[in-house]
Amino acid sequence: MNLNQAIYQMENSAKIKNIAVLGSTGSIGTQTLDIIERHPQLYRATVLSAGRQVDKLIEQCKRVHPDVAIIADHKAYSTLAEALQPLGITCMCGEDSMCEAVSADNVDMVLTATVGYSGLAPTVAAIESGKDIALANKETLVVAGEYITGLLKDSSTRIYPVDSEHSAIYQCLVGEDHEMVDSLLITASGGPFRTWEKERIAKATASDALKHPNWSMGAKITIDSATMMNKAFELIEARWLFDIAPERIHAVVHPQSIIHSMVQFKDGAIKAQLGVPDMHLPIAYALGCAERMQNAERPLSLKDMALLTLEKPDTERFPCLTLADTAMARGGNTACVINAANEIAVDLFLKGKLSFYNIYELIMRTLQEVSFISTPDYQDYVNTNAEARRVALTIAESGKIS
Ligand code: MG
Repeated sequence: MNLNQAIYQMENSAKIKNIAVLGSTGSIGTQTLDIIERHPQLYRATVLSAGRQVDKLIEQCKRVHPDVAIIADHKAYSTLAEALQPLGITCMCGEDSMCEAVSADNVDMVLTATVGYSGLAPTVAAIESGKDIALANKETLVVAGEYITGLLKDSSTRIYPVDSEHSAIYQCLVGEDHEMVDSLLITASGGPFRTWEKERIAKATASDALKHPNWSMGAKITIDSATMMNKAFELIEARWLFDIAPERIHAVVHPQSIIHSMVQFKDGAIKAQLGVPDMHLPIAYALGCAERMQNAERPLSLKDMALLTLEKPDTERFPCLTLADTAMARGGNTACVINAANEIAVDLFLKGKLSFYNIYELIMRTLQEVSFISTPDYQDYVNTNAEARRVALTIAESGKIS
């Protein structure tokens, strides 16, 4: 930062929003820092956290100078501290330190872009300390939607979705009467296997599944996208974010990923939000608490919109999609079990130890074996997550699925 920038920042510090970026080295985290760095008059990243990528975290911290840097991996702590403490950056490690950091006074908003279950604890900490949340970690609402919604009732925290589909629905609902909403239509690209026969999908490898046609994302979500588990999660996420009955939330396949999602109203109207497949707009919209930012992303051209198609999803070839119905119909800790088993299954698939359809089988088998809890509290979610992971690993290692 040069002197002019420093003076400008001091004069405008009252207007600057301090952001904790959890998962800063991932795809969403990197794009969030890109927006923050381009708008120093609006935002400052005060906390950065990463899972394992310590070198990338160090490089980011040297660039944006947060107050606090966190690495989840304990083994990487000394590397982090050696590089950053001389710069006056407080270094922490372990997932618990994310909760401590987001609750501190130097944070106005928490962007949660960690992967999977790890987003739950810091999200709860953010709500308990009244911080606004830009929610990119969908698993938080999937795992514990009912619990989180309960916490929000007694909190000043507002949640702004970063997921492109949910951002689209949020934008479509601005100014509308909730009572007049008929249904939510959540679009899905269909992933890399949309046009493949079932027999061919059965033999798909991790590298086939990692070739997403439209979006560039991390490995976990790209595999979830190929199985359509990601879409099942998004249906559940929408159920809690928008307080809509499960039977009024539908997935629709839209291979071009231009229509980000739609809302159908009771008068018959459908509103949609369209844009290029780029996360800058939904991130900027969430950081701004639903205020629009000029030039957030490249505008759509007529060519982009020339061919937009919609298809019904095929649950025969993509059975993971049906897990949304299972989770929402059974409720309780069901979605938490599904999420945990899926995290284990995706990890094993990426390592070449499970086949593509084994992912669904392993989730179903785990569901049968983990005890059902109808009204879980926070500790029940923690226990369910641990139990489901253990059960899923045991089943996978026993070789009982093939
Ligand atoms: Mg999405």
